[in-house]
Amino acid sequence: MATIIELDHISKQYGPDILGVDDISLNVEDGEFVTLLGPSGCGKSTLLRMIGGFEEPTGGCIRLAGEDVTFSPPYRRAVNMVFQDYALFPHMTVGDNVAYGLKLMGCSPREIDTRVFDALHLVGLYDKLKLYPHQLSGGQRQRIALARAIVRRPKVLLLDEPLSALDAKLREQMQTELKQLQEKVGITFIMVTHDQTEALVMSDRIVVMEKGRIAQEGTPQQLYDHPASRYVANFIGTTTFLPGVTESISDGTTRIAIGGGALDAVADIALPVGEAVTIGLRPEKVRLLEEGEASTNTLSGKICEVIYYGLGLRLGIELAGGARLYADKLLPDTLSRSHVPPLGQPVRLAVQPHNVFVFPGEVEA
Ligand code: ADP
Ligand code: MG
Repeated sequence: MATIIELDHISKQYGPDILGVDDISLNVEDGEFVTLLGPSGCGKSTLLRMIGGFEEPTGGCIRLAGEDVTFSPPYRRAVNMVFQDYALFPHMTVGDNVAYGLKLMGCSPREIDTRVFDALHLVGLYDKLKLYPHQLSGGQRQRIALARAIVRRPKVLLLDEPLSALDAKLREQMQTELKQLQEKVGITFIMVTHDQTEALVMSDRIVVMEKGRIAQEGTPQQLYDHPASRYVANFIGTTTFLPGVTESISDGTTRIAIGGGALDAVADIALPVGEAVTIGLRPEKVRLLEEGEASTNTLSGKICEVIYYGLGLRLGIELAGGARLYADKLLPDTLSRSHVPPLGQPVRLAVQPHNVFVFPGEVEA
């Protein structure tokens, strides 16, 4: 694959103390769906706006298809942006909204008709050609905004929280639709979201941002299975953090004392013995053992909390010493009383060593 966007040590300083984006380098491949993920204020929109040309970097260089566009205005770049509020013209029909950019480009009326037809077909709304934005639902307006952006056939489409105005159900549906649309048109998408599920579902690659920097980047599965830090483990999926101490280390495996017992972890980091560490465990990777079931890598505790969440039960388990972790237990078709363990019941649980995350430093409050 060819590289379409190169961000080379990009920074944006808004004021003496406000660093919106802090020295980010990132390459995006042609046709890739890349998501910038992170909490509010971490610099996602600033980075996106600099790629689009709506904001000038205070440091670094941006190349688009090999050409330096760092200080080029938006209309000189083969990128297009879909804004959070769609920004459709309320007094123009759907057709005119989509055609608007093409008219500015000086396309012939015939060419405009063909391209508007194609773009509206793509988003499944050609029959709405003559309607006005206020006559459409939120989801339809969102699709019109997309049609308007792709009709100009940009190399790259930038989307800032494109689904955030939609309610949960529609949002879920649009996640799949948008992903399919991207695959169909083959345009490179760079999307901003603070929603980890959205990022996991839609992206080829996720860039997790923290305070203007890249915390980690990789495929959804890489980030989910191998979070590089507590920050990432906490932001993607659910993770319980527990205090541990390194007990012994032998090639690739670290044994960690935790809650009156110990767990083996496949640790990528080299740590001395006797070091305080933070253990991260995902509830769905912790398995509750049947009575008398043999297993390696186990801990013992007692049930201290039972949460019903539809798919199953999330059980809070208190280890010796008081640390609490969670284990998910999927339920059979019908839930009966016998499936719900009583509070205080002693249990044993097992975790695969590669599902035990080890992070340096003590658990933060
Ligand atoms: P996000 O999109 O991840 O929520 P932003 O890129 O909007 O984050 O903002 C990153 C940081 O830059 C924040 O601290 C924000 O307050 C600051 N910032 C964003 N835009 C401006 C601006 N126009 N002037 C000054 N500070 C800004
Ligand atoms: Mg933003």
